[in-house]
Amino acid sequence: MVGQTHRMAQSRPEIHVMGAGPTGALTALALGLHGQSVILFDPLTASELQSRSRAYAITHSSRRLLSSLGLWNDLRDTLVPFRDLDLRDDATNSRVLFGQDDLASTNQTHDGIGWILDHRPLMSLLLARLKGNGNVAMYLAQPCPDPSADSLIVAADGPRSPTREAWGIAHWGIRYRQGCLTAKVALRGLAHDRACELFRPEGPLAVLPLGQGNFQVVWSAPWQRCEQRSTLQHSAFLDQLAAILPQGIEPDRLLDQPRAFPQQWLLARRFHRGRGVLIGEAAHRCHPVGGQGLNLCWRDVDGLLRAVEQGGSAATIARNYGISRWLDVLQVGLATDLLVRVFSNRQPLLLPLRRLALLLLKQFSGLRRLSLRAMSDGPMQVWQALPN
Ligand SMILES: Cc1cc2nc3c(=O)[nH]c(=O)nc-3n(C[C@H](O)[C@H](O)[C@H](O)COP(=O)(O)OP(=O)(O)OC[C@H]3O[C@@H](n4cnc5c(N)ncnc54)[C@H](O)[C@@H]3O)c2cc1C
Repeated sequence: MVGQTHRMAQSRPEIHVMGAGPTGALTALALGLHGQSVILFDPLTASELQSRSRAYAITHSSRRLLSSLGLWNDLRDTLVPFRDLDLRDDATNSRVLFGQDDLASTNQTHDGIGWILDHRPLMSLLLARLKGNGNVAMYLAQPCPDPSADSLIVAADGPRSPTREAWGIAHWGIRYRQGCLTAKVALRGLAHDRACELFRPEGPLAVLPLGQGNFQVVWSAPWQRCEQRSTLQHSAFLDQLAAILPQGIEPDRLLDQPRAFPQQWLLARRFHRGRGVLIGEAAHRCHPVGGQGLNLCWRDVDGLLRAVEQGGSAATIARNYGISRWLDVLQVGLATDLLVRVFSNRQPLLLPLRRLALLLLKQFSGLRRLSLRAMSDGPMQVWQALPN
C-alpha cells in the first residue's frame, strides 16, 4: 500500500477538484490519502459547506468506501442504522418488509440494512481530515491557482455545474412534475431502527430514522403542493402529515423548517472531456426514491480512484473513468424513474401488476435479496462477489 501510494505520487498528474460538497470533499480526501497531490476549490466557506439541513441514506457500497478511507469508525456515533425497510403501496394496500436476512451474507455482519447520516457531522469530519492531509491544498471562498497544463480536472460542482457548461458537455434531463419536501419530525409509533418507503399516488414518502424518536421525512408530491406545504404553519403541516402516515404512526413535533426542492433526472451526455471529468451530481442526478443519490455519487469517487490507480496521463484517466461509470449511473437512473412512474398513480391497468410485484417480493426471499443487493451494493455488483 505504501509502495503503491509512493508510485502514484511520483507518476500521477496533479488533480484539481472543483466543488467541496459531499462528493468533491470525499474525492479530494480519497485521492490525498492515496498520495496524490490535490487542489480543492469551493466558492463557499467551511461553515457554509456544513450548514445544510439534510440527512442521507447510506448504503453498503458507501460503507465499504468510507471504511477503506478510515472514515467509517469516526462516523459510527452519528450514523443511525435501520434494520428493517418497510415498503408499502398505498393504492394496492400491499406491504413488504425487508430485514437484515435479505442482505448479501458479507453485509449481514454489519449492523444495518443501511444508515442515516446527517450532513453536518459528515462535512465536519471530511473538512477536518482534508485540513490535516498534507497532500491536499484547500481553497474555500478564496481564489485558487489555475490548473497546470497536465492536471486532471474533476468537476464536482453540483447539478448546475458551471464547469460542465464551460466544457460544452450537454446534458439530458427530465424535470419531474413532482417536487420533494424535506422535514425533520419527532414521530410516535415507529420503531427507532425502521425506515419506511410509502408509495402514494401523489409520489413516494420516505421516513428515515435520525435517532431518539426523530425522523427525516422526504415527501414527494406535485411541485406546487410541496411549495404550499413548506409555507404552512407547523401545526397545519403536522396535521397534513398525520393524515398520510400509516395507521399508528403520529407526528409530535416539527424540528426544522420544511423545504421544497424541484426534482429531476439529469444525465450528462458524457462524463469526461479531455483532461476533465464530471463526478457526482455534476454528472447525474436522480429522483430521491430509494435514497440512491449520494451513494451513486460516491461510487463515482470509487471509480475515479480505480482509474487513477490504473495510471496514464490525465486524459487517459479521464477516459477510463468516464467509460467505467456509465452503466451503473444509467441503471440507477432508469430504475428510480421506473419506480416513480409505476407507483405514483392509481392507474387501473398498473394496480394488478404492482400488487403482484409486491406479493412476489413478500413470498420469495431470493427476490428480496436480489432487489436489496441492487439497492445497497449497486446494480453492477448484483452478480459479483462482494469484497469484505
Ligand atoms: C431534497 C433532497 C433530498 C435528498 N436526499 C438524499 C438521501 O436521502 N440520500 C442520498 O444519498 N442523497 C440524497 N439527496 C441527494 C444528495 O443531496 C446529493 O446526491 C449530494 O448533495 C450530491 O453531492 P455533490 O457534492 O455531488 O453536489 P453538491 O452537494 O451540490 O455540491 C456541489 C458543490 O460545488 C460547489 N460549486 C458550485 N459552483 C462551483 C464552481 N464554479 N467551482 C467550484 N465549486 C462550485 C458548491 O458550492 C457545492 O459546495 C437528496 C437531494 C435532495 C435535493
